[in-house]
Amino acid sequence: MKRKHSDGEKEFNPETLALGYAYDPARSEMSVKPPVFLTSTFQFESAAEGKRFFELAYGLRDPDEGEQQGLIYSRLNNPNLQIFEERMAAWDRTEMGATFSTGMAAISTCVLAFVEPGDVVLSTSPVYGGTHYLFHHVLAKYGVEARFVPAGDGVAEAMAAVADAVGRERIKVIFLETPANPNLLHSDIAAVSALARELSAEREGPQVVTMVDNTLLGPIFQRPATLGADVVIYSATKFLGGHSDLVAGLATGSAALIKPIRDLRTILGTVTTPFNGWLLLRSLETVSVRMRRQAKSAKALAKLLAEHPRVTTVSHPSLLKPDDPQYELFEQQCTGTGSLISFDVEGGEEAAFAVLDRFEVFRLAVSLGGTESLVEHPMRMTHADVPPEDLAALGVTGGTIRLSVGLEHLSDLRRDLRHALKE
Ligand SMILES: *Cc1c(COP(=O)(O)O)cnc(C)c1O
Repeated sequence: MKRKHSDGEKEFNPETLALGYAYDPARSEMSVKPPVFLTSTFQFESAAEGKRFFELAYGLRDPDEGEQQGLIYSRLNNPNLQIFEERMAAWDRTEMGATFSTGMAAISTCVLAFVEPGDVVLSTSPVYGGTHYLFHHVLAKYGVEARFVPAGDGVAEAMAAVADAVGRERIKVIFLETPANPNLLHSDIAAVSALARELSAEREGPQVVTMVDNTLLGPIFQRPATLGADVVIYSATKFLGGHSDLVAGLATGSAALIKPIRDLRTILGTVTTPFNGWLLLRSLETVSVRMRRQAKSAKALAKLLAEHPRVTTVSHPSLLKPDDPQYELFEQQCTGTGSLISFDVEGGEEAAFAVLDRFEVFRLAVSLGGTESLVEHPMRMTHADVPPEDLAALGVTGGTIRLSVGLEHLSDLRRDLRHALKE
């Protein structure tokens, strides 16, 4: 299947491409579905062909007109990953993708591809715990400094101020996680991408690369590349995999940026397995249906929570009021509300733990985006490493509970939530 119908110029929608694009049945015994290519290595037709493949892989020559990198070895590439990457690049409106063993493998490989000692990475806060550790502890060992600004309104202005303070030419990577987790604050992707272009225009050397962790709303409800971001990153463990049965990661962007990321992936060995690639292809066929249905149930549950007497605050974009600056930003950069909800119960940790222990349908586990609904306690679980005063600034208290809404029948989820909240 091609990217366009033969009857015109308009591209197919990603939901359609997810079922057939970038796979040629004639190369696999006419099987309608891509098989799993469980092989570590690929045979060359001739020694000359092997030579030509390696010349391209090592960048020793430019590709001929229309020449694609041939398959060599599964740490470099594999058909299952290649098909998934092409379908995801189409979904994100980008040129190329790179699949990784985990979301953290994607984030670390992408950032390391563009930084050197003395450089500064600007990031929103909070970010995923592993990302925070990478930026704060690991990059520091290699002389790369990370500076954080609070997610939400005014991120571009705050980042510009930090850039002025540390030296604008030192900024190499700008990293956004939006919406932030668990407070679900949105940061302005277009404004920050504009700042990156401004910083890049002032210098001769390497440009500033804007990266967006799109795990929470992508690829269905947010397309950072269309807002000016350079690299779109996912923990594919979450909605893309969608069934809580694998860990994987992905980055998409222009060929010029994804190529050096893929080269570093080859050396660090952060690629994923063919079987994971196959599972991701299978999951991609339903991601649109799953995410829309999950978001619809989440909206209903957010309303239930907002009206519940024991609940003091609820975060879900469906509850944003038009006079909130976050409402305008949400309308500008997202096309749906997603299925994460954070809420607070009165009575702090003890009360929250009692609620957590009463769920029967929601599973008490971290992670998100799977078909099953999950519930967790950010302060003592996913964000246990964050100092309490920082958590307070993020609006996370002992009474905060986070839900990831799955595909169970809505009436059962409602019933379970009401039951868990009973005194
Ligand atoms: C889970 C997650 C990650 C890390 O992904 P892994 O697949 O667990 O390595 C990164 N960012 C966000 C927003 C996540 O939710």
